[in-house]
Amino acid sequence: MNSHIQHHAGDAEAAHQHGHRHNQQDMLSVEEAYQRIMASFSPLEPVEMPLLEALGHVLAVDISAPLDLPPSANSGMDGYAVRREDIVDASEDAPRMLKVIGLVAAGQVPTQTVLPATAVRIMTGATIPSGADTVVPFEETDEIARKAAGDPLEEVAIMADLPYGCNVRPAGEDVRQGQLVLDRGTVIRPAEVGVMASLGLGSVPVVRSPVVAILATGDELSEIGHSLEPAKIYDSNSASVAASVIECGGIPKMLGIARDNIEDLRSKLEAALDSDLVITSAGVSKGDYDIVKDVLTQRGDMNFWSVRMRPAKPLAFGHLNNPKGRPVPLLGLPGNPVSAMVAFEMFARPAIRTMLGRGRLPRPVVEGVLTGPIHNADGRRVYARVEVERRNGTYYAKPAGPQGSNILTSMSRANGLAICPENLATKRAGERVRIIMLDWNEEVDL
Ligand code: AMP
Ligand code: MG
Repeated sequence: MNSHIQHHAGDAEAAHQHGHRHNQQDMLSVEEAYQRIMASFSPLEPVEMPLLEALGHVLAVDISAPLDLPPSANSGMDGYAVRREDIVDASEDAPRMLKVIGLVAAGQVPTQTVLPATAVRIMTGATIPSGADTVVPFEETDEIARKAAGDPLEEVAIMADLPYGCNVRPAGEDVRQGQLVLDRGTVIRPAEVGVMASLGLGSVPVVRSPVVAILATGDELSEIGHSLEPAKIYDSNSASVAASVIECGGIPKMLGIARDNIEDLRSKLEAALDSDLVITSAGVSKGDYDIVKDVLTQRGDMNFWSVRMRPAKPLAFGHLNNPKGRPVPLLGLPGNPVSAMVAFEMFARPAIRTMLGRGRLPRPVVEGVLTGPIHNADGRRVYARVEVERRNGTYYAKPAGPQGSNILTSMSRANGLAICPENLATKRAGERVRIIMLDWNEEVDL
C-alpha cells in the first residue's frame, strides 16, 4: 500500500512539471476509463468494397432490391408444366393424358405456350412457360416408366391432382423489386454476401477499416528474427497487439521499436499521424526511463491513468496533435505482455470495433464455477486467465497457471478472463464467477 501512495506522489510531481493535472483522482474504474476512451470514437466513413472483401464489415447504406427475386416464375421441381384445370381429379387410377409439346431447361427462355391438354417438360429453376400455372413432378407421372421403356415421351400420364400453383416459385416470392432487403449497420456474414450476390451487387459501401499504428518502446527490446543480445528480450507486444488488431478487423501499421530517447520516439511517432489510432506499449508506468510520458505530453493532450484493474493498471490515453489533419487518438498500453493484451481487450478492441461501426461490443460473458482461487491483493478488479470448460451444462473456470503480468503462456492457455471484483480479497474455488469469453472450446460437449 505504501508503494501505492509513493507512486501517486511521484506522479503528481511529474504532472506538475508538465503543467498537467495528475493526481489521486486519476485512479479510474475500468468503466470510467472505458467511457473516457470510447467518447473519442465513432464509425469511420464508408468505402466501396468488392462483395467478398465486405465479409465481416458493416453495411454503410440500406440495400434495396434492384429486381424481383426470383426474377421470373420458375419451377421448384423437375416435372411437367401444366394448366391445373387439365389435371383436376387426376389419380393413378384415372390418369390424365397430356401432349408433351417441348422442354425447358434452367436458363432457357421458354418458346412454347402451354395450351389446353398439353404439357412442357421442365427442370428445376427453369422459367415457367406462359399458359402453365402448376408443375407436376416426374414422380407423379408415368415419365420414369416410359423413359425406362425407351418411349419418345410425346405424351405423359398425369397421376395426381395438385393444387393451383403447386411447385411454381412466383416472381418476387423472396424479394420484391424496391423492397428494403438489408439495413444500414448490418454486419455482413456469408448469408448477407449471398443475398447481395443474388441481387447482382458486385460491390457494396461498408464502413472503412481503421488503420492502427503500433509502436513498441524500450531499450531492452529486440526485433523478432534477429539474434538476442545480452540483457534484451524480444518485442512480443508489437506482434500480439498487431494480431489482436487483425482479429478485431483493423489494419495494423507496424512502426517498430522506439528506443528510450526523446528523438527516436518523436521521429517514430511522425509515421503514426496518418493512422486512425496509435497504440504504444510500455513507458507509461513509473520507471526511470519512461520518457514516453514526456514525449506524448509534448505532442498532444494526453492523460496518464492508473486503472483499478489487474493486470494493466497503468494506461495512457489522449490525442496526438496532427499538423496535417485531425488529432490522432493514442492509447498507451502497459509494457508487460499480459497487461498489454488485457488492456487491448478492455479498451482498444471496443475502440476499433466502434470505428468499424459494430454494435454489441463486449465479448460474451458466462457465469461459471471457479476450480481454483483468484487472489486480489490491493482492491483492484482482477481479470484472471482461466481455462473454461463446459461439463454437464455448467461452465468451470480453472486458473490457467501463474498470473504474473509477464507470464504470457498462461494467456495462451486461457480462453477466458474470470473477474474477481475490487472489493473481494479472494474468490475461492467452488464460488461462482463471471467470465469474459475470449474464445470457445471447439470440442463437442458429449
Ligand atoms: P515498462 O512499462 O517500460 O516499465 O515495461 C514493463 C515491462 O514490460 C518490462 O519488463 C518490459 O521489459 C516489458 N516490455 C515492455 N515492452 C515490451 C514488449 N514490446 N514486448 C515484451 N515485453 C515488453
Ligand atoms: Mg520501458
